[in-house]
Amino acid sequence: MKVVSDPGEMKNLSLSLQRIGRRIGLVPTMGALHDGHLSLLSRCRGLADTSVVSIFVNPAQFGPSEDFDTYPRAFENDCRVAEENGCDVVFAPRVSDMYPGKYDTYVTVERLGTRLCGASRPAHFRGVTTVVLKLFNIVMPQVAVFGRKDAQQAIIIRRMISDLNLSVTLDIAPVVREDDGLAVSSRNAYLTGDERKEAGEIYKGLCWARELYQNGERNAGELRTAMMQLYDAARSFNVEYTEIVDPDTLDPVDTLAGTVLIAVAVRTKWSKTRLIDNVIVGGEL
Ligand code: AMP
Repeated sequence: MKVVSDPGEMKNLSLSLQRIGRRIGLVPTMGALHDGHLSLLSRCRGLADTSVVSIFVNPAQFGPSEDFDTYPRAFENDCRVAEENGCDVVFAPRVSDMYPGKYDTYVTVERLGTRLCGASRPAHFRGVTTVVLKLFNIVMPQVAVFGRKDAQQAIIIRRMISDLNLSVTLDIAPVVREDDGLAVSSRNAYLTGDERKEAGEIYKGLCWARELYQNGERNAGELRTAMMQLYDAARSFNVEYTEIVDPDTLDPVDTLAGTVLIAVAVRTKWSKTRLIDNVIVGGEL
């Protein structure tokens, strides 16, 4: 496995791979690799000849009071785990190479970026789309794998690919969960013991809404009320939002028809960790 940090070297490597007809797959991550990331890598290996995992904690997607400085970093271990799981190239650029002093260009998916998580994290998706477009330009993948865990992110990237006529194909992977249903996340490491014990309730609320849907309930208000009944009883987190939306526009729906995204964000009370999760009903992303 190669480890590349220089964007120019990565680009040259990709160009030489493409010249010999290799299909390149990219899995963008912020590192601290876990089973969720590894499931993306496994899909990538099935879709591409050369699998590149990028590891970059992207300052542009963190707000001023967010956890950029404390975000878990485990580079040596990440490289070992990536190699054991069949990764061909780890691309881990330095912040100063991605955003040199005069850096001044950002990409914004305007409306979708203001919805759901965008309401409380105003510059977050602008940072995500900017770095992902840069990664696409450097690695030049034919396919890129993202997780449905971050459904809004995947939807926004899909919009950017379409709006900007990019040539990359997007693959969206299912959510990998702990035994109690909690979506695996690097940020789960922040949780206190009590918060972790109750965190499985987040997915239970989503499952409850999905079960009501499967039993014929189509009124979004009823589904949200049912979820909130469960969440209101939680002692270790507060709900930031529960949203039932069209997965293309992220507009709220009153009556469920076709594919619908049911998404939730909570903030834990002691460690102040922000956790997100979702289910899709009536189809797939
Ligand atoms: P991150 O390192 O948190 O930026 O995540 C990198 C990629 O892994 C994103 O596309 C995430 O959606 C995906 N991902 C993170 N957690 C999970 C999970 N539990 N299941 C599936 N994909 C995930």
